Amino acid sequence: MDNCIFCKIINGDIPSYTIYEDEIVKVFLDINPESIGHMLIIPKKHFVCLDDIDIDTLTHICDVSKKMHSLLKEKLNIDGMSVVQNNGDVQEVKHYHMHIKPYYVNGPSFSVEEVYKKLVD
Ligand code: AMP
Ligand code: ZN
Repeated sequence: MDNCIFCKIINGDIPSYTIYEDEIVKVFLDINPESIGHMLIIPKKHFVCLDDIDIDTLTHICDVSKKMHSLLKEKLNIDGMSVVQNNGDVQEVKHYHMHIKPYYVNGPSFSVEEVYKKLVD
């Protein structure tokens, strides 16, 4: 999709801190994180929202969210995690994405580069 910022990330036209990737999805750090390790899981194919994404892709995204949960517990020692997925007027970027938002009782303070290194090493 032309002019879709997330399609540009998938094509490599815009850089991202990629945490995980396979043939169906890409996972990268949110540019404006609500907490340390806030990441987005996006399908490589352009779907706008829940109305048009297919169930197999959605199931795979849920499976990857479980992997990210394990990764965040192991590498960043999170105390909790919220999953958010916006649609319609509350959705800023019109390419389906699932937010993975770590929660900490006593929040650590790492730079984006430090978080990236911890998650991919
Ligand atoms: P939403 O309101 O669910 O559409 O949220 C879109 C999210 O995409 C926001 O949390 C933004 O910070 C994030 N975002 C926008 N552009 C980028 C980018 N180039 N790299 C990483 N995250 C981005
Ligand atoms: Zn797109």
